[in-house]
Amino acid sequence: MINIQPDIKFKKQLKEVSKSSLNECMQCGTCSVVCSLAPEEKPFPRKEMIWAGWGMKDKLIGNTDIWLCHQCGDCSTYCPRGVKPADVFSAVREISYQHYAKPKFLGKILNNPKWLPIAILIPIIIISTILYLAGTLQIPEGPVNYSKFFPHVWLNSSFTFLSFLTIALGIAGLRNFWKDLRLQYPDFKPSGSFIKHLFSIRKEIILHSNFSKCSNKKSRKIAHLLVFYGFILLLFVTAFAIYAAIVHKYPLAITNPFKILGNVAAMMLLIGLGIMIMNRIFDRKDFGNSTYADWLFLISMFLLTISGVVVQAARFLDWGIAYHLYFFHLICVWFIIIYLPYTKFGHLLYRVVAMVFAASAGRK
Ligand code: SF4
Ligand code: SF4
Repeated sequence: MINIQPDIKFKKQLKEVSKSSLNECMQCGTCSVVCSLAPEEKPFPRKEMIWAGWGMKDKLIGNTDIWLCHQCGDCSTYCPRGVKPADVFSAVREISYQHYAKPKFLGKILNNPKWLPIAILIPIIIISTILYLAGTLQIPEGPVNYSKFFPHVWLNSSFTFLSFLTIALGIAGLRNFWKDLRLQYPDFKPSGSFIKHLFSIRKEIILHSNFSKCSNKKSRKIAHLLVFYGFILLLFVTAFAIYAAIVHKYPLAITNPFKILGNVAAMMLLIGLGIMIMNRIFDRKDFGNSTYADWLFLISMFLLTISGVVVQAARFLDWGIAYHLYFFHLICVWFIIIYLPYTKFGHLLYRVVAMVFAASAGRK
């Protein structure tokens, strides 16, 4: 006898986020047949759809397959009942960011629009406090020089500390996620180290090859690659900027190769994000329901990139509003980097961990 323990609150939340009529799934299996990423053994998403209909939170949160899905939407396109399994998977992922969040309140405030003012207020208060402690909480006089407003030593040490704190909290959440993945695979016997299996999925990560397997919407792969590599390039340039500040070679001239690389990264991000935003606005039939988490991530990343370019122009053109723009840019940085594990950007971590788990469990 199977003992089913539905979680009505979870089911309500899943329906609300996915906008799917869960109970109309007739278990025909078309979605699993058309999904090009589903393994032959125990394919998804049909089995998850019945669990979703029954409100089985423990089966869906911490489920590897939820993260192996790359949201191509093929299953939703072919579902004869219009139940939208792709949106249901996306909603489970969104709920997972809250479920594994450490501390919990950050997961809550970043996944509910009613808490957005608080999410914005937190970086405003903390950055202002750091500026106050540095003795620079005022607009400096003279030509624009951001280090007069936020001294490099304060900027680099505070943001580096906060980034490491985020990494530590993110790892704590991922450890619980890994435990849940194992619970769903009672027969799981790890056959090698995490690093070994991470290396085994390098092609999927570097080339985003799983996107090529989806029959729908080829532009998704191009957009994801542009954003992925644009962001990595931006991190690289930022690391150099920190080094340049330490050795007192900052600010960089507009012709400096690292400055040029930073602008190339910004262009890559803007094109990639532009494709993603356009697809979500103009192709709702194929791209499905766009949730608050989708928009929060896309808009934050877009604002981060645009504000970075504008802040650079403000310095070279000596705009009076430069420091206000710079403060806004720092809030955008906060939303992308410090809030990473709690927003949709967290899929970067959760998906990789799930893919490593799948590789170590031999789930192909
Ligand atoms: S979600 Fe749609 S395609 Fe999949 S089993 Fe249910 S009715 Fe069939
Ligand atoms: S969205 Fe695409 S990858 Fe995800 S379950 Fe549906 S068909 Fe498979």
